[in-house]
Amino acid sequence: MKKAIINQTECVACGACEKVCPRKAITIFHGIYADVNKDLCVGCKKCEKVCPASVIQVVQKEVVS
Ligand code: SF4
Ligand code: SF4
Repeated sequence: MKKAIINQTECVACGACEKVCPRKAITIFHGIYADVNKDLCVGCKKCEKVCPASVIQVVQKEVVS
């Protein structure tokens, strides 16, 4: 299973990923950065494709801490 990871220091909190996620796995934490609920994420890559800052990567779960 793949999971999305977000470079939160580069995230501009635009909310695009939150809107597109079919699993509602992403929330904008305190309006500052996006956070992924890895239990909900199914690795569909929709968030990765829409992120204007290119700070989302979908990777194999084994490398997600
Ligand atoms: S990979 Fe898919 S399920 Fe996971 S956070 Fe991104 S949009 Fe949501
Ligand atoms: S789409 Fe990218 S820049 Fe926008 S909130 Fe999500 S991770 Fe941050």
